[in-house]
Amino acid sequence: MSGSDGTDTGMTTAVEPDAVDAGYLAQAIELAKQNVADGGGPFGAVIVRDGAVLATGQNRVTRDLDPTAHAEVSAIRAACQVVGDFSLAGATLYTSCEPCPLCLSASLWARLDRVVFAADRYDAARGGFDDLAFYELFATPRSEWSMAIDTARPENAAAPFDAWLEADARTDY
Ligand SMILES: [Zn+2]
Repeated sequence: MSGSDGTDTGMTTAVEPDAVDAGYLAQAIELAKQNVADGGGPFGAVIVRDGAVLATGQNRVTRDLDPTAHAEVSAIRAACQVVGDFSLAGATLYTSCEPCPLCLSASLWARLDRVVFAADRYDAARGGFDDLAFYELFATPRSEWSMAIDTARPENAAAPFDAWLEADARTDY
């Protein structure tokens, strides 16, 4: 079930997790269940590098009034603070559910080596979450979205990038 245009439709090949993966996935699932017991969303995440847990995360959307506080994003933020770097290269993200587009992008920005998930977008949809809907939305033309995305290009639209490229003190990422 792959999209005719090559877009991912979520049919990631399920593999039998090895013992290490299974252990961290179990931890992520436990974090997710614990978060539900605490009144939060059913999502948990664990970030591991060199055999050590760098950080964990739970969904904090409703508690923190932060729609971006997904478990994976929370774990990425915490792990970066732990290692003192904005890159998590060499690390693996274990998450109780397939990352939504936000979290998948955050994983790319964090330069994670690997993402391993347990439940998928279809399980999330059954729980009333929009992961599947957003993946499907990304496969449709923006002109059909209910949220308008407009662009205007003033003369100095690219000026921030000019300034960036000229900045001697910039930190590339
Ligand atoms: Zn997410």
